[in-house]
Amino acid sequence: MVRIAEIGDGSIADALELRIGSRILKVNGARVRDGIDFAFLTAEEELRLEVLDPDGTTVVCEISRDPSESLGIVPAPDTIRECANECVFCFIDGNPPGARDPLWLRDDDFRLSFTYGSYVTLTNLGPRGLQRLVDQRLSPLYVSVHATNPELRVRLLKNDRAGLIMDQLRFLLDGGLEVHAQAVLCPDWNDGEELDRTIRELYALGDGILSLSVVPVGLTRYNLNRPVRLLRPGEAVAAIAQTEPFRERALRRRGKHWCYAADELFLIGGCDVPEAGYYDDWPLLENGVGALRNLIDGFRAGAHRLGPVGDVRRIRVVTGTSMRPWFEGFAPSISTAMRCPVEVVAIDNRYFGPSVTVAGLLAGDDILRGAQEDTKEGDLVLLPATALNDDRVFIDGVAFSEVAARLAPARVRTGYQVVETLLGDARADSAAATGSRSGMAIESLVTAAEASAGADSGGLPGVASAAAAPSANP
Ligand code: SF4
Repeated sequence: MVRIAEIGDGSIADALELRIGSRILKVNGARVRDGIDFAFLTAEEELRLEVLDPDGTTVVCEISRDPSESLGIVPAPDTIRECANECVFCFIDGNPPGARDPLWLRDDDFRLSFTYGSYVTLTNLGPRGLQRLVDQRLSPLYVSVHATNPELRVRLLKNDRAGLIMDQLRFLLDGGLEVHAQAVLCPDWNDGEELDRTIRELYALGDGILSLSVVPVGLTRYNLNRPVRLLRPGEAVAAIAQTEPFRERALRRRGKHWCYAADELFLIGGCDVPEAGYYDDWPLLENGVGALRNLIDGFRAGAHRLGPVGDVRRIRVVTGTSMRPWFEGFAPSISTAMRCPVEVVAIDNRYFGPSVTVAGLLAGDDILRGAQEDTKEGDLVLLPATALNDDRVFIDGVAFSEVAARLAPARVRTGYQVVETLLGDARADSAAATGSRSGMAIESLVTAAEASAGADSGGLPGVASAAAAPSANP
């Protein structure tokens, strides 16, 4: 059943005097299991709703409506399905003791995969669950495969059902669904020949596997070497090289490269960031694949739009350590165009430890420790937008408003793209002059992928792959 969270004024539900808090049990005789069922079942013109009111009364509503007419019912969010695994690299184990409650949620929910692009393992779905995906055409799905070797996948996920993955994928593909696959690369586990096998066998499943991203494992001081270690530079380079023959073959036969190394692999390997053509039509940008190239090209394309901004006397760009070189590369152009010095403040991550270098996982306290000293009047401080959740709170629970207040008298801005963030500030200045705050909003081409609680990803000024973040993927 789904609970009614909101009812639109003047809507059909309003006219029927449905109540917030009531539960919808059935639609046209079919049981409503969750919000997706509700959306699926209420697509009909003729509806028969069985509703359980908060006082325990069951009411039946017959509805005949024009297809364009909304019911006006907003269901409450579904309870999130948790995983049935104990992955050897689990990002949850990388949380510091005392981390906020949402960060401990082991979500593995196909609904989040379909609606937000979260990766799921499928180990908590039996035949009926898979059939439902097909029946409701929940596609594309994002699936953490990690390894196609069944024994290896069982050991990686510590779940006997993990070995069913190829049969599960075949079932979904035969049912007409499409899948973005992912392999989180754990050295000495699923790299080397196992990575070759995984790429080869996923490619052989056909066009229904839309992409495969190869992502280095992310570990913090709390789960480092327990039992998985971090990838070494040479191993990252080798993994990138392993994808190349498959990419070339896919381009010849399917017209796209299909297999993509995540940004963080290039950073770890010390490799040049691939050109835009590497990413085809950017199928995984929101999953941290290509975000770095997108940032670089976005800056190059827009830098000519920059100019001096009011009373800004210095710009400070706060980011994780992995992005320092790129922002230092942008700094001279920004400085020249905006006629003020630009300083890159690369913050060591003490919350998770030095192995976490992405900006999207910077804690508020770490930012304050690294940026508060030496802040002065006339400073414009840019913070990574993707280090904030929807409530504008950093991963350690410190609110953006607190950080901004403690960085005063500096002005503080967040954004995803360098130029837009700086121009956004220019708009904010002029909006403030007329008494409006609306100009503060900064839009971005790179969207944060906080698909579920605690799943922060990289963004400006960090942009490093979400995949490398310990909280990014099952
Ligand atoms: S990594 Fe994800 S799927 Fe694996 S145990 Fe942790 S929460 Fe579950």
